[in-house]
Amino acid sequence: MSDCIFCKIVGGEIPARKIYEDELICAFLDISPINFGHVLVIPKEHHQSASTVPEATAGRMFAVASRIGILLKRREEYDGYNLHLADGTVAGQVVMHVHMHVVPRGAEDGFRWNWRQLAYPEGMADEIAASLRAKLAEKIG
Ligand code: 5GP
Ligand code: ZN
Repeated sequence: MSDCIFCKIVGGEIPARKIYEDELICAFLDISPINFGHVLVIPKEHHQSASTVPEATAGRMFAVASRIGILLKRREEYDGYNLHLADGTVAGQVVMHVHMHVVPRGAEDGFRWNWRQLAYPEGMADEIAASLRAKLAEKIG
């Protein structure tokens, strides 16, 4: 994917402040951080969606992202961190090379996720759970 900016970062064609790389993944500072130290963890191979990333690579992304979160917490004196992955434009994905955000959080950082909590109408939660359970059993086994 020659026109993908994150592929270009992997290939060294455009600069980024890389903090980690191995044969599967690469991690670098987000250019416009929510808080200072905000990191993006990406597979080296181009995938638009997390769903097509091989399990070993996805596992490495998660393992390294959570370790970076802990390091930011300890070394940079944040209180915690969020892992965030937007899959699809409606979910807020802007760069179409899948990436996991590691967002360090401070108690007084002034950033609030726009989170809401709906209540299920009668029967709907059972229906959704049963449908997903069946489809996952078919696909994952
Ligand atoms: P998304 O909205 O797709 O989940 O997040 C894309 C992220 O990539 C944004 O947080 C944005 O700041 C970051 N980003 C976009 N272009 C570049 C770039 O060229 N270099 C770096 N380091 N980060 C970028
Ligand atoms: Zn790419």
